[in-house]
Amino acid sequence: MRTFAHNEIYMILVFFIFIFLLGIVIGSFLGVVVDRSIEDKSIVSGRSACDHCRHKLSWLELIPVLSYIGLGGRCRSCHAKISLYYPVIEILTGLLFFLTVFSILGTSIFFDMFDIRYLFVTSYFLYIISSLVIVFFADLKYGIIPFKIVFAAIIITFLWYFLLPILHLQNLAIPFQALEDNYLFTYLISGLGALSFFFLIFLATKGKGMGFGDVVYAFLMGFILGFPNIVLGLYIAFLTGAFVAILLVLFRIKKLKGGSVPFGPFLILGTVISLFWGKPLIAIILRLLGV
Ligand SMILES: [Zn+2]
Repeated sequence: MRTFAHNEIYMILVFFIFIFLLGIVIGSFLGVVVDRSIEDKSIVSGRSACDHCRHKLSWLELIPVLSYIGLGGRCRSCHAKISLYYPVIEILTGLLFFLTVFSILGTSIFFDMFDIRYLFVTSYFLYIISSLVIVFFADLKYGIIPFKIVFAAIIITFLWYFLLPILHLQNLAIPFQALEDNYLFTYLISGLGALSFFFLIFLATKGKGMGFGDVVYAFLMGFILGFPNIVLGLYIAFLTGAFVAILLVLFRIKKLKGGSVPFGPFLILGTVISLFWGKPLIAIILRLLGV
């Protein structure tokens, strides 16, 4: 561990504040993508408008988080409540961006970030994290897992695994993935294993237990996490999903859209926890089991 001069510490601080703000801005875009991926509109074209009165938003109303606070959570034109989804997505994306970049670069190798290869690694994981944020909120808000977003993430991950040896990226310390020999095969099997498992549940419950979106997402989850992290990720998803379902029944809370609790958000939660903290968590579990 190297020590830093004062000006270096300021640089690191400014850099991570920048990453957090970048996440907030991207999060504001993701909030729009959530709606448009469901409405099947073009994701990039067209200005944002109020959901309620279609009043076109000016740039002053489009500043992430600050506009929401400044407007008191209401549309300037029709005074309808602005969904709390938007500022929540923005702040959450900011935090996840910080967590992702900090996990990859840390502070000890901070100055390596000017190495183009680290830029490549961070870009890939930020893309994946952004996709997970979209799926999380699309399923929570509309009860639908947007197929296009999941499919694009699968293709990007395929490219990622192919490019790793070509760009010599597997030599970098990538904290999230264990890139031993035949890693592509291992990750592919993990994806297919999760897919088969979910497809069986899908068939057994005739699509009532979970939607087909969950089945496709299961492949992406295994493909990103690999083995044994996929097992941990699914375990966390089922455990937290069951826990929340029991709470909802106990407190007689209205069921969410579609008549059932969407499972996607729990799958995302399992994916994120297993991606960031899979290694130490699995080590603890194995020790508890006495393996
Ligand atoms: Zn309005």
